Amino acid sequence: MQILLIEDEVNVVSFIRKGLEEQSYNVEVAYDGKMGLKMALEKEYDLILLDVILPGMNGLEVCKEIRSRKNIPILMLTALGSTDDVVNGLDNGADDYLRKPFKFQELLARIRALLRRKYGPEINSITEIGGLEVNHRNKSVKRNGIPIKLTAREFYLLNYFLNNKGVLVSRADIAENIWDSSFGNGSNVVDVYVNYLRNKIDKNFNPKLIHTVYGMGYIFREEND
Ligand code: CA
Repeated sequence: MQILLIEDEVNVVSFIRKGLEEQSYNVEVAYDGKMGLKMALEKEYDLILLDVILPGMNGLEVCKEIRSRKNIPILMLTALGSTDDVVNGLDNGADDYLRKPFKFQELLARIRALLRRKYGPEINSITEIGGLEVNHRNKSVKRNGIPIKLTAREFYLLNYFLNNKGVLVSRADIAENIWDSSFGNGSNVVDVYVNYLRNKIDKNFNPKLIHTVYGMGYIFREEND
């Protein structure tokens, strides 16, 4: 799991980083708001920890900007503690907040809860369907025992299919859940990514898992076309 920590206080950074690394999370740090925003938009993270009072650009603005473009769990860290700031944070798209000072165990519990909420309850386990094996903890994927490398986006897409197994999902459903965006008519971004995923997990294997329902969308289930 990749976590981006946007925080300017060196002591807090080292406290959080050390604790999370002990729990096998990978942590990258941005010490100001602008750098944090840049990293959040350019790279793929599983979760963002975001301080409110930051040099350059404050955490609320950073949160709003990230949220307008990405569907990623954001946990705000606030020293301010007033109800207004909490409400502001949530209004700007944060998923949860934690008041400083906090105990590390509390932070860990919040992070786990957000990751569970976002990526499904089976985050610690392995899902198997038609010879496809998905390890939600380290995000590794195999089919018939052969390791398959997916990008973060492809993995989220696969996870979405797994959570909607046997259900017809439209392109709009996928766009909203994976990109937090509707793209608009005429965009083929969803089809492009479904094809990337299909080429990796289905093309050389049977039974097929991703099925196109003409004019409607896709169904993920174990069945030969
Ligand atoms: Ca700060």
